[in-house]
Amino acid sequence: MTREEIFKKLYDEDEVYRSPIESGSALLEVTKGCSWGKCLFCDFIRDKKELLPPERIEEKIELLSKVIDKNERLYFLGCNPFCLDSGILMYIMDLVHRNLPSVKTVSMYARADDVNRKSDEELIMLNRAGIRELHIGIESGSDRILKFHNKGETAEELKTAFDRLDRFGYFYHVTVIPGLGGRKLSHEHAVMTAKLLSSINPVSIWCIMLKLWPGTPLYSIWERGGFDQMTPGEVLLEEREMLTLMDMKNPCLYTDSTVLNKYTILGELPEQKDILIKSIDKLLSEEDVLNKKHN
Ligand code: SF4
Repeated sequence: MTREEIFKKLYDEDEVYRSPIESGSALLEVTKGCSWGKCLFCDFIRDKKELLPPERIEEKIELLSKVIDKNERLYFLGCNPFCLDSGILMYIMDLVHRNLPSVKTVSMYARADDVNRKSDEELIMLNRAGIRELHIGIESGSDRILKFHNKGETAEELKTAFDRLDRFGYFYHVTVIPGLGGRKLSHEHAVMTAKLLSSINPVSIWCIMLKLWPGTPLYSIWERGGFDQMTPGEVLLEEREMLTLMDMKNPCLYTDSTVLNKYTILGELPEQKDILIKSIDKLLSEEDVLNKKHN
């Protein structure tokens, strides 16, 4: 079988979704869709939910072993494979270690409730088995916003999950959605998200401005006038407020690749916070952004 044929068999989907931080990781399909699948803004909620049968995962790991190029990082694809029962995750990790000996770190998306559902012993066991990094969507630190969007988690539950991950030696990356509260809750979104972020220790924060995807529940609510979407310029002002209020205790990479739908800002927190804020100020003054509407 050629490398091309192997890659065709490895991935059922034409497109794979992963954080930019995982661009150098080997990729393994484990689950499809999200076990929760109810967030109003989420474009993944229409995806079919599926755990690949053990024999297919085994087959894919074997295929991956032929093309892996000595990667030390392996990323499990799927919206939240960490929802899987710990026994299943341990079974997959055993296959990984037997077939992919170069792999030292396994990472994947998780929901905070996937973490909180696992006992201390399970979290320790999974970490020792090599699951060392998780990507978790915070989206907002405001309970009102999380509730409106049907996220199914509170800020306190998110904080509990991160505290437990800190305790058991996991690294975690978080995502935030500027603009998620709409115009009405913009200030609350900035303040409460900054508060939550300042109380945890992520390795990276990735901001992705809210996008209204046709076909999502939020899109229909917006069409009926039930959500006051902000312009990209207003979202950037909100992000500036959040950044100003943030007080990260440990080094953390901050990225937003969706600024005004065309720029990326990136810096190390807390050291480069002022530089990030100055970059935002420059964009706000140069681009006349507050007079621009949505694209
Ligand atoms: S938890 Fe994440 S992937 Fe699942 S529905 Fe919500 S935003 Fe989408």
